[in-house]
Amino acid sequence: MDIPSQQQGSDPQPIRGDKGADDPGPRDVLRDRENKDVLAPPETDRGTIPNLKFSFADSHNRLEPGGWARQVTERELPVATTLAGVDMRLKAGAVRELHWHKEGEWSYMLYGSARITAVDEEGRQFVDDVQQGDLWFFPAGYPHSIQGLEPDGCEFLLVFDSGGFSEDSTFLISDWFAHTPKSVLAKNFGWPESALAAIPKQELYIFPTEVPGPIDGNRIGPRARQSFSYRLLAQAPQRTSGGTVRIVDSRNFPASRTVAAAFVEVEPGGLRELHWHPQADEWQYYIDGEARMTVFASEGKARTFDYRAGDVGYVPHAMGHYIENTGSTTLRFLEMFRSDRFADISLKQWMALTPHELVQAHLHIDRRLLDALPQEKLPVMHGNTKDGT
Ligand code: MN
Ligand code: MN
Repeated sequence: MDIPSQQQGSDPQPIRGDKGADDPGPRDVLRDRENKDVLAPPETDRGTIPNLKFSFADSHNRLEPGGWARQVTERELPVATTLAGVDMRLKAGAVRELHWHKEGEWSYMLYGSARITAVDEEGRQFVDDVQQGDLWFFPAGYPHSIQGLEPDGCEFLLVFDSGGFSEDSTFLISDWFAHTPKSVLAKNFGWPESALAAIPKQELYIFPTEVPGPIDGNRIGPRARQSFSYRLLAQAPQRTSGGTVRIVDSRNFPASRTVAAAFVEVEPGGLRELHWHPQADEWQYYIDGEARMTVFASEGKARTFDYRAGDVGYVPHAMGHYIENTGSTTLRFLEMFRSDRFADISLKQWMALTPHELVQAHLHIDRRLLDALPQEKLPVMHGNTKDGT
């Protein structure tokens, strides 16, 4: 049993079996309660592995009229070089102002509803209303906007295809206007300079305005050839004994050429099975519930972290890992990759499809158990783990 009773209560102690000792303080007991597997790691953890967890609760929050935004980038979580994330809230009517950036932008709607707009390089317009469970992808450099709708605006997770992204250094329409000579603006648009008297003196970033009318009134010009939004929760999930998985990448959402994702639900007691990803690092966002993950880094190194809603997790390329639901409610999280496709390798499927006498020679496990391993991939498991049950 690798979760001793000393860890379970409201006063967890750094004790595992006959190892460790109590902590007389000073201590941050609130943190200790959230990080039981860090305070008293499983016996199997060993060696130095970089930090693989950062909570949005520990990020600077930029409060603006109408909303807020906070980010987890490689500045907060240095190992996370491939992707960065932003958690943003917009009240009804509030706008994340018209802007663009160097990075591709993938986003998942966590709450409420929003209107998104974009224009592509062919001069074609995209506009859509998205709800909780929908996502979007805007390719690098495409200008876009996000606006909260009735009744209560929205919250969404943005994921950018570079760990060094900064939400504070995007290209904003108001910022450019404020830093271009008015005579040039007037010449560019064919307007008198007096028409520019009221432009903002500095960036807006997030600001309140009127809730827009019906979407058909927002359609202008030719429509974009491909959709930049996708209804992820409308996708029929792959159901297995311990939960569900929905995968979205460029195969079913062609616009999303640089970010692939899986939305995973794990029931209490269930396990996102031991696996790794052959193509990329994994950036995780925890939506509901509680989990722990152990990452295996080769060279005898392994480290375990605890996660809950609002946390970011990270798995460097090819490192083995599992995610276990350690709470009493459904665990929901997103796995994201800087890749055009989702890919994972199941430890169990690999063993099932390898000559069983060869596997047995390595692990000394009863051949009948190896013969009974499922040959299909079952990404979320619910299994008994104790003898005699
Ligand atoms: Mn953006
Ligand atoms: Mn994974």
